[in-house]
Amino acid sequence: MKPTELDQFKASLRGELIQPQDPGYDGARSVNNGMIDRRPRLIARCSDVADIISAVKFAREKNMLLAVRGGGHNGAGLGVCDGGLVIDLSGRRGIRVNPKQRTVEVESGCTLGDLDHATHAFGLAVPGGIIGTTGVSGLTLGGGHGYLTRKFGLTIDNLLEADMVLADGSFVTANADENEDLYWAIRGGGGNFGVITSFTFKAHPVSTVYAGPMLWPIEKAREIMEWYREFSKEAPEELYGFFAMLTVPPGPPFPEPLHGKNVCGVVWCYCGPIGEAERTFKPIRQIGPPVVDFVGPMPYPTLQSLFDPLYPPGLQWYWKGDFVNELSDEAINLHLKYGPEPPTPLSMMHLYPIDGAPNRVGKNETAFSFREARWSMVIAGIDPDPKNKDRITNWAKKYWEALHPYSAGGAYVNFMMDEGQGRVEATYRDNYKRLSAIKGKYDPTNLFRVNQNITPAG
Ligand SMILES: Cc1cc2nc3c(=O)[nH]c(=O)nc-3n(C[C@H](O)[C@H](O)[C@H](O)COP(=O)(O)OP(=O)(O)OC[C@H]3O[C@@H](n4cnc5c(N)ncnc54)[C@H](O)[C@@H]3O)c2cc1C
Repeated sequence: MKPTELDQFKASLRGELIQPQDPGYDGARSVNNGMIDRRPRLIARCSDVADIISAVKFAREKNMLLAVRGGGHNGAGLGVCDGGLVIDLSGRRGIRVNPKQRTVEVESGCTLGDLDHATHAFGLAVPGGIIGTTGVSGLTLGGGHGYLTRKFGLTIDNLLEADMVLADGSFVTANADENEDLYWAIRGGGGNFGVITSFTFKAHPVSTVYAGPMLWPIEKAREIMEWYREFSKEAPEELYGFFAMLTVPPGPPFPEPLHGKNVCGVVWCYCGPIGEAERTFKPIRQIGPPVVDFVGPMPYPTLQSLFDPLYPPGLQWYWKGDFVNELSDEAINLHLKYGPEPPTPLSMMHLYPIDGAPNRVGKNETAFSFREARWSMVIAGIDPDPKNKDRITNWAKKYWEALHPYSAGGAYVNFMMDEGQGRVEATYRDNYKRLSAIKGKYDPTNLFRVNQNITPAG
């Protein structure tokens, strides 16, 4: 690349162009997962759509590897690359709520915390994930599940429209009437089709929820898991509870005798009429006294950011996931073998419900295929110390390998590491062929390939 070409590219941007010799380079290339250590040639902090168009064209013309970074939370580190150019959207944090229409337009560098903050002021919420620092972009493009999912669907089920820049540098809108094929593909198909510049979501009247964690001693894990399996079949869709095995954090508000103890638990969120909440929780509170019951009324954004301090950026993460249709006795036995012995205090396993509203969308209606699944499971080895990298990785792999035969056969793309093409295809099942054809139409040279990649057909 000639210096003049680089100067011209730099001059075409309103945002910063960061290079390895610049003081902000190390901060700009680091992502949430501390295990990822990649060194891009250029990082373009795009401040507007014009910057994004310019960066896409530059990468294409110079044949550079291109990564797109939303919130930088991807476990496999797919928001950054070695060599090549990163389109960094983190400066694009504008949000416009339309309270009359109950819609919200979100620029693609926003985090879930930004989105919750903006909508809560209007008594509204968009279904998202459970940690506020996660990027809206990557989460949405993979599907997006969280506390409001059983009632209001996946994040993509609330996506009305997206503006995007395609591989040829053109700007398009994708919705139910315009570029319907793209609109279908981006609802679960990841960042394969272009750079999303903004999303428009449907929002719902959610303000105060009745929510929080309930924990039991690990010795009760079998009883609680069996009860949870049956209870959640009949639970109203307003009630969401993800099952977890975890270690109690060593600090307030947890009672001191519990610090560092392995426990099992359910983190609840009831988003129905608040007057009904106590009644809904009555049968839950009859199953035996929890050692922690922090469930009560709280503003939705408080719940959404409850666990943020536990998971600051820079921790080592290795995780694996699978969709789960059934929690058989054999699967519970295996959870009880591995779950109670995490290699480090932050390591955990979660079973996130995706039944209810997501199950009512057909498996071919959006790219997200596993519409019949009841849970999205994640097993995560996590620790601040890079020395424990192998230990957390081995535990997560072993635990996952034992459970995988009892899974539905594919995994949530947002819980995948670099696991090979077979896993990507298993996740999209018969939607893969159509995704591949759409990829071939809009990105035939696979410019957008730093993702869970869909091979372009043709
Ligand atoms: C602590 C933590 C908690 C999580 N909790 C949940 C949860 O509750 N629910 C859930 O569904 N998921 C959850 N996830 C998973 C999360 O959805 C993924 O990690 C997701 O990839 C994060 O998106 P991001 O924008 O932050 O990631 P990035 O690393 O920035 O990007 C991820 C992928 O999306 C692509 N991409 C990003 N922005 C764009 C864009 N604007 N246009 C095109 N492509 C783009 C990137 O190229 C990359 O391939 C969690 C992750 C973490 C680390």
